[in-house]
Amino acid sequence: MKLFDVYPINDITITRGQGSWVWDDKDNKYLDFYGGHAVISIGHTHPHYVHRLTEQLNHIGFYSNSIRIPQQQQLADLLGKATGLDDYQLFLCNSGAEANENAMKLASFHTGRSKIIAFSKSFHGRTSLAVAATDTPSIVAPVNKTDNVVFLEFNNAATLVEYFQKHGDQIAGVIIEGIQGVGGINLASDEFLQAIRILCDQYGAIFIADSVQCGYGRTGKFFSHDFSGVKADIYSMAKGMGNGFPIGGIIIAPHIAPKYGMLGTTFGGNHLACAAAIAVLEVMQSESLMDNASSMGEYLQAHLSQIPHIHNVRGRGLMIGFEPAEPFGDMRKRLLNECRIFTGEAKPNTIRLLPALNIGKDEADVLLDAIRKIVA
Ligand code: PLP
Repeated sequence: MKLFDVYPINDITITRGQGSWVWDDKDNKYLDFYGGHAVISIGHTHPHYVHRLTEQLNHIGFYSNSIRIPQQQQLADLLGKATGLDDYQLFLCNSGAEANENAMKLASFHTGRSKIIAFSKSFHGRTSLAVAATDTPSIVAPVNKTDNVVFLEFNNAATLVEYFQKHGDQIAGVIIEGIQGVGGINLASDEFLQAIRILCDQYGAIFIADSVQCGYGRTGKFFSHDFSGVKADIYSMAKGMGNGFPIGGIIIAPHIAPKYGMLGTTFGGNHLACAAAIAVLEVMQSESLMDNASSMGEYLQAHLSQIPHIHNVRGRGLMIGFEPAEPFGDMRKRLLNECRIFTGEAKPNTIRLLPALNIGKDEADVLLDAIRKIVA
């Protein structure tokens, strides 16, 4: 059987990893400034993570949501502390798309309305409603197209106000990434997020903070939306949550009431997934990883900004984008092939840095030196 050929892959076979380093089958060593799409949050094979998962697997790996799974409450308690949202409620699933799908569905159930507002350059995943709310027409199948999702301009509060004034009674929710990832590391302005909060309150709509890529401590705060000083009604999470183990979830404000059968999943919140997520939060806390993300992010941005031919350095914490000048349009390829450093990209020409939150100064310097060498 052939693999369904949907990924344009690099011809590299990674066989092991440790911290921010990975090795291929020929024992070449690579620096990982990508984390497989912002997934590796506490580093590859972190000993505490390996211990927690192994221990759990030796007891029981999976049982469904038809019985008590105490690890779910343990995770909810840790999340309540880490986010400061201990009065919110946790629903667990398996991926970012599924988290957003459930968030938008819940907004619709709660309000009895059917319109979702999303923004230009957004990416919310590939399941039906998540992809309908994603501003990339080429990945939206005809069956996913719906008039229920309306796209407005990112960071344009005036258009949003106008839309709410005309259609406020039909809007179930507004979904927005605090920092657009796939869209190119674009920061939602504090004023825009504050305007969303005010409008959702005024018209009874649900504010959904897609934190799948920009959340979970990556920016130095637990949710990047926190910088605006307002709270969302639902936060979606995945990626860094399990450090590679598939787990996603939504954190739901207390005024949104659950009902049996309203949401559900076979795999979501299983023992092993919870063990992974618990290990991640324990390491984030014991190693002060949000502080590290914040200071290493500042260090990287400050030094990147001083490198000639590197433009438009932006981001927060360890979610950074920059654009190499035209003659260095192949920089990402050169970083990988010549310097053995993985980075991410956003079309047309942004390099995205999404390393583990425990990246050190030495590793940052390896990347900075490689970029300096290329532009020299
Ligand atoms: N939301 C955002 C902001 C993302 O960046 C992604 C994935 O890149 C998703 C949702 C979808 O997550 P997943 O691939 O886990 O379904």
